[in-house]
Amino acid sequence: MTQTGEARYDSIVVGSGAAGGTLARELALRGQRVLVLERGKGEPDPDSKIEPAGKANLVFIGRGVPIARGIGVGGTTMLFFNTMWDPPFDYFRSLGIDLTAEAEEARKELPVAPLSDELMGPVARRVMQSARELGYDWNKLDKAIFQDRCAPGRYPHRARWNSRYYLEEAVAHGARVVAGAEVQRILLDGRRVRGVVYTEKGERREASAERVVTAAGGIGSPQLLQASGIGSVGQGFFCDPLIVIMGTAAGVENVGEFPMAAGVHLEEEGTMMTDLPLPGATYGMMAATALRFDRLLAHSSTLAVMVKIRDDIAGRVSARKLRRIFGPDERAKLASGYRRASEILRHAGATKIFKSRVVAAHPGGTVRIGEHVDANLQTGVAGLYVCDCSVIADPWGLPPVLTLISLAKRLAKHLA
Ligand SMILES: Cc1cc2nc3c(=O)[nH]c(=O)nc-3n(C[C@H](O)[C@H](O)[C@H](O)COP(=O)(O)OP(=O)(O)OC[C@H]3O[C@@H](n4cnc5c(N)ncnc54)[C@H](O)[C@@H]3O)c2cc1C
Repeated sequence: MTQTGEARYDSIVVGSGAAGGTLARELALRGQRVLVLERGKGEPDPDSKIEPAGKANLVFIGRGVPIARGIGVGGTTMLFFNTMWDPPFDYFRSLGIDLTAEAEEARKELPVAPLSDELMGPVARRVMQSARELGYDWNKLDKAIFQDRCAPGRYPHRARWNSRYYLEEAVAHGARVVAGAEVQRILLDGRRVRGVVYTEKGERREASAERVVTAAGGIGSPQLLQASGIGSVGQGFFCDPLIVIMGTAAGVENVGEFPMAAGVHLEEEGTMMTDLPLPGATYGMMAATALRFDRLLAHSSTLAVMVKIRDDIAGRVSARKLRRIFGPDERAKLASGYRRASEILRHAGATKIFKSRVVAAHPGGTVRIGEHVDANLQTGVAGLYVCDCSVIADPWGLPPVLTLISLAKRLAKHLA
């Protein structure tokens, strides 16, 4: 284990999720000495009820709305639904960042493709047919899945790409990944980064490096910078709130489908809709928290549509809590999405339609490009960078993983 006075690294990466895992691989491939510090556990939790291996950590914002994230090696990619959405290239160009080459590189490296017709389940097919009949440009979405390892109704963990694949390559090229290592503070030497303080198995340790990149996620990175007294970050965040609209339909049998097989992005409105057949336990939790106990046993014959909206950057992240109340525009967008999704479900033959409570899954916009970091993702401290969902500078509303992988690849080129 790294003790004070031990090896000095070229780069320390804090967090091992979508961005951290990519960065570790890219830097190690370029011959850097890399240390990845991850506060969560090394192995997936075999008892997890959430498909397939990750354990969701819930943090609550105002009025009991939970944000789900993954804490462990692989970060939130251990829970994610594997949808790969291209970065909004024009938006990033307006910030002085061209991600075209990096996104293309990632698409070549990862098993990205829409699900085959055979693997697309009956819920997704029926929802897509209904949405198309109603005039939506509803199409299959790209997924990062090894489809040759799947069968209809069977999507084992090893078939789902996650950032551990990149971490394994990083380790093969000499990187060290330490699980259960929570970074407490960034160490500075004047206005230059010097290393980090972290705890591992209750012990305080230090590691030093030329550069530190916090890739601790949209909540973790601002909290770490705040704890280190760096910048006025965390003022405002987005979280892409969503609801799931569900209804019972005769002749449907959900035997364990992969969620988000197809959908539509209504860009102007800032709304995304997809099918969302959920695992039984998650469905049960959603029905119970919506107080629809009469629907608890209806899982296998339920059609489900997710409505996710682009929310504002508002509220606050601090060390102890996240504060955020959705405003009238955001509530109106969710209500409009609910009406659209209900119509799709009714048209598909569903009855007993109900909606889940609001949940969120993409916290970000807390350490923004152009405000807290420059176009190379460097903070005001020399050698200290941020690379994760935090740096997205404007309201978002899209699946962010391919964007984060692309940003991390670009940063690695810059650092090397
Ligand atoms: C259920 C679900 C489904 C999703 N589906 C999709 C999808 O289909 N497509 C898509 O693009 N996105 C999806 N997302 C969102 C996506 O997974 C996340 O937005 C993305 O993984 C965020 O990447 P990140 O690098 O910002 O942080 P994360 O992947 O969250 O990684 C951050 C890591 O940093 C660690 N960390 C935090 N603080 C510290 C510290 N102080 N010291 C050490 N380590 C620390 C955390 O434990 C974590 O492992 C989904 C999310 C959820 C919850």
